[in-house]
Amino acid sequence: MITQFNFAKFNGCPRQAYLTARDKSKSLREKYNLSFRLKEVQKDMLKSFPDGVTVYGDVRHSAEDTRYIIDKGEQVIYNATFAVKNASARCDVIMLENGAYDIYAVRPTSRYTRWIDELLYTKIIMQKAGVKVGNCYVCAIDREGSAGKVLTVINVNNDRRERKLGEKLKDIFANISLPEVPSPRLVKQCGSCPYLEDCFAKDENSIFSLKAIPFSKKMSLYQKGVKTVDKYLGLPDCDERARREIMVRNTDEDVYSKEDIRAFLSQLSYPLGFLDFETMEVFHPTDPILSPMDTVITQFSYHLIENEGAESVHYEFIGDGINYCEKEAAEKLCEYIKENHCVLMYSDYEKICIECLMKRHGEYAQKLGIIRDNLVDLEKPFEKKFLVNRRMEGKSSLKKVLPALYPDDEKLSYSRMAIKNGQQAESVYARLGKMTPAERENAMRDLKEYCALDTLAMIKLWEKLEFYGKME
Ligand code: SF4
Repeated sequence: MITQFNFAKFNGCPRQAYLTARDKSKSLREKYNLSFRLKEVQKDMLKSFPDGVTVYGDVRHSAEDTRYIIDKGEQVIYNATFAVKNASARCDVIMLENGAYDIYAVRPTSRYTRWIDELLYTKIIMQKAGVKVGNCYVCAIDREGSAGKVLTVINVNNDRRERKLGEKLKDIFANISLPEVPSPRLVKQCGSCPYLEDCFAKDENSIFSLKAIPFSKKMSLYQKGVKTVDKYLGLPDCDERARREIMVRNTDEDVYSKEDIRAFLSQLSYPLGFLDFETMEVFHPTDPILSPMDTVITQFSYHLIENEGAESVHYEFIGDGINYCEKEAAEKLCEYIKENHCVLMYSDYEKICIECLMKRHGEYAQKLGIIRDNLVDLEKPFEKKFLVNRRMEGKSSLKKVLPALYPDDEKLSYSRMAIKNGQQAESVYARLGKMTPAERENAMRDLKEYCALDTLAMIKLWEKLEFYGKME
């Protein structure tokens, strides 16, 4: 089904339009219109509109209900839904003004421009459904609005843009009405298309099934007639990482390059630290330092190995779940992590978080800057396939690599933990303020255990690299 959320992603490929229109799988965001927490914010904001009628249910039923309610002349409709052919659109609010319905999209951000096409698409679908439309407004929550009081309402009507989108939609409709699915045609936009696998990589021997080389390289090989992995393996300039990726498909053993591992390890030194942050997106920040939807650090875990052969020492920090706590987090980071620590992180997320922290808390910027400069990304050797095995399934995330390298170690299993992933940690942290003291105590313990396992896991991955790096 074509919706306002996937409309922007169309790249002009007839097959993509055809497949999307018939695709029954929906992302959660599309299924529920917006993410659950965003929906909560919307609910608050909608209080600013006079009472109206809410439409519920799947697209077909809510489109029928919307039609019925409009015919009755209802002035305000929440979640109004419109469906034409294989395309649909939902609106947070529509409001009857001077004989036409104005569209309101409530979005918790001041960067309203990214919603314009979505609204204009909605307008076109409404018009195609026979509804007279007036203006299109983005109700962007600005800083004051984050407290739920003030909305910045921006009229995003734009005739030229609307005409362009109308043309695009006409093309899409023509393609989805084709009698049969169009054949795939390799173009550079395929690299970011959700149907790439369906079109070109169903066969494990397809060159497009390789993860180790970028799409542009695969495309150029394909165009030169190197369409299979086997053929690529036979080339003298076959990429080493790709070769390892192909090798692991036929073995349960770890496949590694000790030279690459040694090169990676050579940039590390003692004291060696392992850092992991947990963070949370804040929709209603109470602290003026933050804007809606800012991401803030809520806790961290830091394991430190002072010198070769020493046991690791653990440090941690967690906020109270009620108050903004990044200042305390910055203070603790600077206390625990000294200038001479070489610090491993997994992916560069910690670096991004520290840079935000430096902007928000300039008084710690100098010390935090040194920590940032001493960070080394432990994901790189796995991402670059220096050490790989079949169980990693071509991925390099911590949650995939750890059990792949330690399949029998129960102590390192996230599945035995009360909190199993970062999203769960975020939602438990967000509820801390509403818990009883006993619940809170348990939740805090679970959160600390979860975060500590992340840095412990990093130590184990580093140990594995050390092991293979020392192989004769
Ligand atoms: S992968 Fe390419 S050919 Fe296939 S649907 Fe996407 S854009 Fe079209």
